[in-house]
Amino acid sequence: MLRIGCHLSVAKGYLDMGRTALSIGANTFQFFTRNPRGGSAKAIDPEDVRKFLEFSENNDIKHILAHASYTLNGASADPGVRRFATESMADDLKRMEFTPGNCYNLHPGSHVGQGPEKGIRLVTDMLDSVMEEGQTTTVLLETMAGKGSEIGRTFEELRSIIDGVTMQDRIGVCLDTCHVFDAGYDIVNDLGGVLDEFDDIIGLERLKAIHVNDSVNGAGSHKDRHAKIGEGSIGLEAMVRVINEPRLRRLPFYLETPNELPGYAEEIAVLRSRYAGQ
Ligand code: FE
Ligand code: FE
Ligand code: ZN
Repeated sequence: MLRIGCHLSVAKGYLDMGRTALSIGANTFQFFTRNPRGGSAKAIDPEDVRKFLEFSENNDIKHILAHASYTLNGASADPGVRRFATESMADDLKRMEFTPGNCYNLHPGSHVGQGPEKGIRLVTDMLDSVMEEGQTTTVLLETMAGKGSEIGRTFEELRSIIDGVTMQDRIGVCLDTCHVFDAGYDIVNDLGGVLDEFDDIIGLERLKAIHVNDSVNGAGSHKDRHAKIGEGSIGLEAMVRVINEPRLRRLPFYLETPNELPGYAEEIAVLRSRYAGQ
């Protein structure tokens, strides 16, 4: 069975996201833990979470994915920015334990002129200070397009971060199809080769989630502009190969395409209709 959903607004709480997911044919979803561009997080309502957990159990909604806010940059040269990132992430991980056993996706950060090596060390320092023994949440590093000074544009950079972290068993990777394509990994003509490379450098057992996005720009463009499925340079057929690829097909897929709910429902229906077998 295809596990697929899209990015949803957390504004009305968890139960509302569960109901919305179901209404558009999704059986998972992604959400921001807090305002994506600011810092504030709404207090968790334990009663809402309890109802959500019951609802998701009854309706087979699984593998919800939290996404850290974009402003969180643990690789910044500015200690204040790093402190904010560390505090936000620590708080996010506490909140994640209300819905145990899920994943938390993070953009590794931007080194802003300090160089990737320094940036990677700062990120691993942050991860080590916020990840705790006994946490049930797996932190996923997202593959990045490499715009500006983004860290995580190569599998090697992600590997270096993973190598530097103490809690190895709670760290994984989320592969974003638009980002890896923009970073120069040709998933259109050589998906198998890209996955072989991922396996050699990071290990496919670390891959826990896929962001399914088409890209406005071409391979290697380092742009990071998402397109609707089938309307970008990746194209529908390449996306159909991604969801059916034996090494990927059991993973959860999340759409982050420029859509409102009806558009997401349509993309989910199209991808479901092209998913081979069950
Ligand atoms: Fe992201
Ligand atoms: Fe993404
Ligand atoms: Zn993106």
